[in-house]
Amino acid sequence: MKLQIDFGGTHFRYRIDEGTIITKPSKEINLPSFLDAIISKHPDIKSIGISFAGQVKEGVILSSPNIHSTRFDVKRYIESKYPIRLEIQNDLKCAALAEQALWKSDHLAVFYIGTGFGSAFIESGKLILGSRNQSGEIGHIPYQKAPFRCNCGREDCLELYTSGSGIEKWCEHLNIEKAYHRLDRLQTLDSPVAKKIVENFYHGLAHAFHTALNLFDFDTLVLGGSVGQHEEIKHFLKEEFTQCSFHKTGLKIVLSTLEEGSLEGTKYL
Ligand SMILES: [Zn+2]
Repeated sequence: MKLQIDFGGTHFRYRIDEGTIITKPSKEINLPSFLDAIISKHPDIKSIGISFAGQVKEGVILSSPNIHSTRFDVKRYIESKYPIRLEIQNDLKCAALAEQALWKSDHLAVFYIGTGFGSAFIESGKLILGSRNQSGEIGHIPYQKAPFRCNCGREDCLELYTSGSGIEKWCEHLNIEKAYHRLDRLQTLDSPVAKKIVENFYHGLAHAFHTALNLFDFDTLVLGGSVGQHEEIKHFLKEEFTQCSFHKTGLKIVLSTLEEGSLEGTKYL
């Protein structure tokens, strides 16, 4: 039996042997207690794959901006106690593995723009990890100073302009009515302040795109997330691609078709 888990900032989802997905609020989850309980209920579990919305390295949970967690060696905890193999990886890196399997590209980027701006990259068929397993965090590159902080602690991250939470922060800061705190709704407002937030969102998106493309030179970009998975975003980036340096050609920009990319990706860990 295989247990797959997606431990997100808001939702904790899991399924056994690709069965029905069960969802719980993440804040109710104590990971070691959950794992012990489910293993005792299903003693045939032989492997566990976890996608985690935060920093992990070699089986150890290090930190997360959105999940209350302390350093925890979950791989050792389980593997020393049970005859089970456990792998854990960052959620965007899991999503990249799932998208790679689907789009069959060895040079692939994922931009999942929802609450945050998540990204991950595949080069020559392999995930780019880095020395701390923290490569590819385009959303947290220093961009422009904002009058509030990112969940990572800085006040100049690109994510403060180009993400759902960034848009919300700007709307609150500029006293825009709560019903309009979304990219698509802001675009319906005839106000210079709203127009500026939208303009800044796209400016940040273009910056992320050109930075990532110049660094990693991918041939496929997959757009996902509640804010990013839209034709409008795809067309904007296609247009940006025509403005690229060095006359690059042959970039495929697609919308993700996976409903549970991160969960799906735990299959390939
Ligand atoms: Zn940040």
